Amino acid sequence: MKVLFACAEALPYWKTGGLADVARGLPDALARSGHDVRILLPEYARVRRRCHEQGWPLHHEAAVSVPWPGGPRAVEIVRHQPEAGAPALFVRAQGFFDTERPYEPFPADPLSLGRRFAFFSRSVVAYARHWGADVVHLNDWQTGLVPVYDALDGMDAATVFTIHNLGYQGNFPPQLLAEVGVPANFMRTEAGLEFYGQASLIKGGLTLADRLVTVSPTYAREIRTPEYGAGLHGLLEHRRGDLHGILNGIDTEAWDPATDRLIPEQYSSLAMQGKQSCRRVLCDRAGVSGAGPVLGIVSRLAYQKGIEIILGAIPELVRQGCSLVVLGSGDPPLEHALAGVTRHFPDNVAVSFSFDEPLAHLIYAGADFFLMPSIYEPCGLGQMIAQRYGTLPIARRTGGLADTIDDGLTGFLFHEPSPAALTDAVARAAAARSSPDWPALQQRCMRRDHSWGRAAAEYDSVYRLAVGAGLTHAV
Ligand code: ADP
Repeated sequence: MKVLFACAEALPYWKTGGLADVARGLPDALARSGHDVRILLPEYARVRRRCHEQGWPLHHEAAVSVPWPGGPRAVEIVRHQPEAGAPALFVRAQGFFDTERPYEPFPADPLSLGRRFAFFSRSVVAYARHWGADVVHLNDWQTGLVPVYDALDGMDAATVFTIHNLGYQGNFPPQLLAEVGVPANFMRTEAGLEFYGQASLIKGGLTLADRLVTVSPTYAREIRTPEYGAGLHGLLEHRRGDLHGILNGIDTEAWDPATDRLIPEQYSSLAMQGKQSCRRVLCDRAGVSGAGPVLGIVSRLAYQKGIEIILGAIPELVRQGCSLVVLGSGDPPLEHALAGVTRHFPDNVAVSFSFDEPLAHLIYAGADFFLMPSIYEPCGLGQMIAQRYGTLPIARRTGGLADTIDDGLTGFLFHEPSPAALTDAVARAAAARSSPDWPALQQRCMRRDHSWGRAAAEYDSVYRLAVGAGLTHAV
């Protein structure tokens, strides 16, 4: 099948979180299984610069015309072919993507964020028509208007919409719709975009895509409940027959302690000495004692990630003799709070506020445990990466964390979102680390299969259902 994979970020061009990993790993696995896959994303200024700096040539692929208020816009699609894997295509258009911060509006123009991704979505439809895609695979709110523009402009392709995080919905004042050429009749509550008076771009995907996927079976159930549905549980319950839960994989070549060049000494489940060196280097670099368990955190600093639970637990964790090494960036109030705690416990807590790939590798390799006390977690990649490095995850039992961690076997789970529940789980984990079973626990984690092949096979089935559904509609 010809699969157009439309997304707002993808490795190696730009990454803020797990979506960028998925947008490389899944298309590559689908291509290996025989599909003709192309990744399509906006050519932001920062992406253009990165391609230039890396010497990645961008070749002309197509010229398409995108219907737009005030007259059609000419758009160039340019292409980069990585050494291995699916090609990436970029939408090059004046006035929409000229930004270093793609998820923020232009200063003093709050609707520009909505316009940016509305225009991207309409370009997706134009290119899908041009190429003759069979399936257009959409990802998160930035691509939510694609099925709406499909209804307006027509493209002969089935649509599959993956929810990577329901917490980000792309809600804008309804006047955005006139600016982006969406007729007011789409502003319905049922089967439309209306969401508490706002125009919700994610709702375009949730109501109109042929099939819906989210990134773990547990999250697929959770988002149909008021607690996790972020106001959209009714709609998702209504569409439950079209909603699938497919666990993400990870890039098992990039994340492999046996070949990882970003860590000081390589190791494998059969020869673990290197992990001790990584631990020493991590503790030295972070300036923490490492006398007791070393807990690593690599995370966006956002409410979702349970950072407040960690903040509440730190005094007790330090009392238990743990060291914490935190790498993260995000909400300024959470950064501020973490910086404050670090000053209190300089020998046990080290924090780095940055996005730092090499340091992330060192933490995954050098820590004993990896903390993910997420309030909700659609899938989560960190816990799978940690398992691969023999670093047992300690996580809340929610979403993909519940689906990838067997409590006491491949990590430690707790349920209540509280510091006390987290510190109890850490105490259990620390006891396991002192037990004779510890090497076996690490080995079991490291041997888990996290490769993308399984997910690609499941997406293949969903594509077939979506194409079949499209045919039924046509009849
Ligand atoms: P989310 O997509 O919600 O941020 P995931 O666990 O799905 O969470 O994916 C996060 C990815 O981003 C992982 O690959 C993790 O290693 C990486 N990551 C997160 N924060 C940082 C950081 N500050 N520096 C380097 N990598 C990070």
